[in-house]
Amino acid sequence: MFNKKNIHIYFFSFFMFFMFFPQSAFSWSDSLNVKEEIWYVKKSPHFSLYFKENIPAVKIDRYLKTAEGYYDSICKKLHFKKFNFWTWQDRCKIYVYIFRKDYTDNTSRPEWSRASANFKERRIDAFLSDKGFETTLIPHEMGHLIFREFTGGKTPLPLWLEEGVACFVEEEQCSRLNFAKKLVKSSIYIPMKKLAGLDSDTIVVPELFYAQSASIVNYLITGFDEYKFLQLCQALKDRKGWWRSLQQIYGFDDFDDFELKWKTYVQGEE
Ligand SMILES: [Zn+2]
Repeated sequence: MFNKKNIHIYFFSFFMFFMFFPQSAFSWSDSLNVKEEIWYVKKSPHFSLYFKENIPAVKIDRYLKTAEGYYDSICKKLHFKKFNFWTWQDRCKIYVYIFRKDYTDNTSRPEWSRASANFKERRIDAFLSDKGFETTLIPHEMGHLIFREFTGGKTPLPLWLEEGVACFVEEEQCSRLNFAKKLVKSSIYIPMKKLAGLDSDTIVVPELFYAQSASIVNYLITGFDEYKFLQLCQALKDRKGWWRSLQQIYGFDDFDDFELKWKTYVQGEE
């Protein structure tokens, strides 16, 4: 779940989502042979959705509408409003499977994996039998890809930052932020210096890690003017170190100062 090469999701928040796009915004194209299996593809302005023939067309349309809706809302949340990416041949690919086994067989992901995102291929893989497919998995994985799109993927980033952004762009980020607030009040959060070094092998309580990561990203985005986060993304794209960039742009003295200011912000929220 924390593999940086194929970042994926492992959490459980849910929300309702439904957006309408004109039918003419989507177009069918020919079938495509991928890994010796026949896949069909339907495209929207920013996505190519690959699927097997046994998925009803009305559902395919809905998934594309949902993905386009997330594209807009995620860019807005991250202040990437003036950009237009994933167009034409650079569309984001979403591979839709029916069952988990289909997904794991095609992606070589472990049994417990629910979805994955591959930055180099600009590709998301997920399966429909997971009840969070539309509401949780797709936006989370899109959050990973969009963030990577704006940071270039060349600068090593701490896991909390990548997962924090992905969690922050979820529609129901509130449950995570509220949980983080309780953690701060109870003083059972992860010290910032320790959090910075955590990876997939060293995380002990995933729910705590995700909530705190989302809360910190929320602080970095909503606690300052919108240009700060854009500045940070640009610095990361310019391959400046993440901590040095964060320190300079946000004015943190050290990890302790960063932690104290984040906690103060969290405690001051309504
Ligand atoms: Zn993730």
